[in-house]
Amino acid sequence: MTNLLDVQNIEVIYDQSILALKQVSLAVPQGAIVALLGANGAGKSTTLKAISQLLASENGAILQGNIFYQGQSILQSNPSQLVQDGLVQVLEGRHCFASLTVEENLKTGAFVRHLSNAKLKTALEKIYHYFPRLADKKATFAGYTSGGEQQMLAIGRALMTQPKLVLLDEPSMGLAPKISSEIFTLIQHLKQHEGMSFLVAEQNIRLAQDFTDFAYLIENGHVQTSGHTKQLYESGVIQQVYFGQKAS
Ligand code: ATP
Repeated sequence: MTNLLDVQNIEVIYDQSILALKQVSLAVPQGAIVALLGANGAGKSTTLKAISQLLASENGAILQGNIFYQGQSILQSNPSQLVQDGLVQVLEGRHCFASLTVEENLKTGAFVRHLSNAKLKTALEKIYHYFPRLADKKATFAGYTSGGEQQMLAIGRALMTQPKLVLLDEPSMGLAPKISSEIFTLIQHLKQHEGMSFLVAEQNIRLAQDFTDFAYLIENGHVQTSGHTKQLYESGVIQQVYFGQKAS
């Protein structure tokens, strides 16, 4: 079976001079949660933006390699076309429209789908079912919600596009462990019950260990190692890269 996403040997450069990714290859099988692990500046966000074709706005470019989504090269696609085709990214830092309410933010996610009012209502109800906190705050301006609620809102808005593949950039950043676990538990639920696939950039290796199927460790713009997350963890490879030590 072909992978839902196949990134093949991509090289990314910013400002025509900063080489951010060197020969990065990775795959997301259909219905899998794949972790992209690495420290600050390793190249995680760049990898996700390369996939969702968001590099141009930062004066970045893919110099070499190819990216296949559903078997087709997407190097010439634009981000909104990709969203329509089911590939959506949740950017690092929970970008929400602060002066719109929670519900208005969620509705912006549905624009691309041109849903009828009835379908929009059903889609909203689904998000409120997944994130009851958002239902409680539906009329609150997003700018007045907590960090955890804003992350849920950013994910909820992406889910409103009815995606097949979600790219999540550091969803746990700055959140309490309980909220991070809630978010990853939902991701697992969406995988199991809706068949969605995920590529998640993370620094939190414990969350990756508990919730992801495969992991790629990226260092200095280069994939250092990859494999089943549990095997990488049990063999101590992840700890070695992060902490310079073997697992006890
Ligand atoms: P973080 O968790 O800090 O976001 P990251 O693993 O996501 O780290 P990237 O943001 O992809 O790493 O950065 C990879 C490299 O590319 C770094 O050297 C960074 O300085 C550089 N870089 C990232 N964005 C830009 C940009 N817009 N212009 C120039 N260089 C950039």
